[in-house]
Amino acid sequence: MTTPRIALVTGASRGIGAATARLLAERGHDVAINYTRNAAAAEGVAADVRACGRRALLVQADVADEAAVLGMFAAIDAGLGRLTALINNAGIVDMKARLDEMSSARFKRMLDVNVLGTLLCSREAVKRMSTRHGGAGGTIVNLSSIAASLGAPSMYVDYAASKGAIDSLTLGLGRELAMEGVRVNAVRPGIIDTEIHADSGDAQRAHKSAALIPMERPGTALEVAQAIVWLVSDESSYVTGTVLAVSGGR
Ligand code: NAP
Repeated sequence: MTTPRIALVTGASRGIGAATARLLAERGHDVAINYTRNAAAAEGVAADVRACGRRALLVQADVADEAAVLGMFAAIDAGLGRLTALINNAGIVDMKARLDEMSSARFKRMLDVNVLGTLLCSREAVKRMSTRHGGAGGTIVNLSSIAASLGAPSMYVDYAASKGAIDSLTLGLGRELAMEGVRVNAVRPGIIDTEIHADSGDAQRAHKSAALIPMERPGTALEVAQAIVWLVSDESSYVTGTVLAVSGGR
């Protein structure tokens, strides 16, 4: 009997997270589907996972809330078993603005979801995956952004800064866990056609930005999911602490 492969995808009710959950199921993973607001959409993703013959577990939790994260991992332990892959995908943007127009409440929420959420989920995953804790190893894939390298001036430098933190975490944690059976990598998407852009005030942003991209089109959620699933798979067995751009050459 082979050991079950059990993945948690945070923010999996839509966009890149939903595409990743579906593809992980196609590749033989049972999947915990985390979301905050849209239970109906998350249930749709779970149905697709089950249609692949894999187990699906819906877990509603705000990744920025430590108690909710602890509850989510306990639910996965009980409902699916010991985690083997974590995709830290949940992330937010906010309205296009200059730094001098942003509130401290916005800064706090941006860092809480994008950085604290990733730290909390990673910590709980390490406790279950690392050989130091009696685990059998695993993989963590973080969602960075091309904003981390471009800075997103006059758009959302707070978001860019939060994704810069993800790059540093990926490098450090990848090295910290290199001898404990856990690989840690990130993908750095460019402009991807998902619903996130409506949250920055322009639902058409992805397509309007085509001229900025060498491939002259936004990427799809599936194209990012394919990179994530490769980083989860054994085909990337010698890859850790690195950030893979999925950006159409941008
Ligand atoms: P999206 O379409 O807005 O989806 C975000 C997902 O995260 C939703 O399922 C949402 O669930 C969930 N979520 C939001 N806040 C959460 C929280 N506090 N706790 C748990 N789940 C939460 O986003 P996306 O475009 O797929 O982006 C996914 C990741 O890729 C993000 O980290 C983003 O920064 C990164 N990224 C995206 C792009 C792009 O162009 N799309 C580019 C670079 C990087 P509910 O709706 O149910 O609350």
